[in-house]
Amino acid sequence: QRARTMHAPSLPDQSIEAYAGVTGHDRLQRLRVLAKALEDVRILHVNSTAAGGGVAELLRSIVPVCNDLAVDTDWLVMDADDDFFEVTKAMHNALQGSGPPLTEEMKATYRAVTKRNAAELEDVYDLVMVHDPQPLGMLDYITETMQNAPIVWRCHIDLTDPIDDYLAFVSEYTNRIDHAIFSRSSYVGDIEVPTSIIYPSIDPTTEKNRSLDAETIANEHDRLDPLSFEDPLVAQVSRFDPWKDQFGTLEAYRRAREDVTDLQLALVGGMAGDDPEGLELYEQVSKEAVDDPNVHVLTDLPDTTVNVLQCQSDVVVQKSLREGFGLVVSEALWKRTPVVGSNVGGIPLQIEDGTNGYLVDPDDAAGAGDRVCDLLENDDRRTKFGENAREHVCEHFLLPRQLVELLETIVDVLD
Ligand code: UDP
Repeated sequence: QRARTMHAPSLPDQSIEAYAGVTGHDRLQRLRVLAKALEDVRILHVNSTAAGGGVAELLRSIVPVCNDLAVDTDWLVMDADDDFFEVTKAMHNALQGSGPPLTEEMKATYRAVTKRNAAELEDVYDLVMVHDPQPLGMLDYITETMQNAPIVWRCHIDLTDPIDDYLAFVSEYTNRIDHAIFSRSSYVGDIEVPTSIIYPSIDPTTEKNRSLDAETIANEHDRLDPLSFEDPLVAQVSRFDPWKDQFGTLEAYRRAREDVTDLQLALVGGMAGDDPEGLELYEQVSKEAVDDPNVHVLTDLPDTTVNVLQCQSDVVVQKSLREGFGLVVSEALWKRTPVVGSNVGGIPLQIEDGTNGYLVDPDDAAGAGDRVCDLLENDDRRTKFGENAREHVCEHFLLPRQLVELLETIVDVLD
């Protein structure tokens, strides 16, 4: 029986000092100064899943580090059932460009569940940050509980080409919040409130991203048998979601395999708690791949295994059709694995074409396959791209940089 209340995910302690090896002293000092300015405030983050997907991944790092910096920060996950998540997945899809008509029934489900969740909030916070569209409907009910504390919306999705009806529905809320944060300037659109652009980041200290010793790699290799780290390996790590285009990745792999005959593909995917479409797509992808022993469709892997696969792959592919940011791109680049990715959403922020990977047209699966071959057939280029990749992520996409920008925004909003 599932608890029908909002819940706080359990989180490991994390010390800001853990980042001293990957970021400059000045940035850590800046974080301490910002934290000092926030020493008397309480911040609440609300989202709709504790695991699976980039938002949960970000909050798992941000929340403990903020607390270590003495910025009192809580994270609550909404309680909802599949009816609600079907509506919010349709919202997510439609805001990214395709979805069913938005009905009054869907709006009613959305309003009822967000109202019920909002009613559970009792503590008063000085600022509430809601992530993505799922918790936005709580706005109407929490303003009073929070004694008019500012509400910030952090939008993680790709708003390049949203469907009007859905955008209008979401705008009923977003035009009444205090501030919005987007992952790319082109997503801002006509929103009527102040905005910031903050690129997400990865956490180099986690099990997902830490450096691995030979023993761990060997153990994971055994577990992943018959997949081999000796033969050429390409991987895509993504939720089973139509925007991630696993079928396009399969097509790119088939193209590349014409030239690199022993090539293997690992399609690694998890099921996020707020994503009811995942299982169906997983089954379709598995069915499509079943006749090819070199394609491995792997689900719900532990973070260490994801780490090993991103690290041991010769090339990582991210063949998305839309992508809010795409943490998986930075995760692979950090491990010195070049990435061939679609030129959409947050991917071109991370891939420097011809330097740490290649950008391809999202419709061009064969072109992606050609780029994979280019890298598989050029060991020196792959190594060089891998070094560039590590450097690029180190400079732009690690947690301390994002945290500075986030705390600066919070300080400004509370000012
Ligand atoms: N992820 C994972 N296992 C999987 C699939 C994804 O751990 O099987 C993680 C991945 O490593 C990344 C996050 O989920 O940290 C996905 O974030 P991203 O921003 O790439 O995409 P989103 O799912 O938020 O659209």
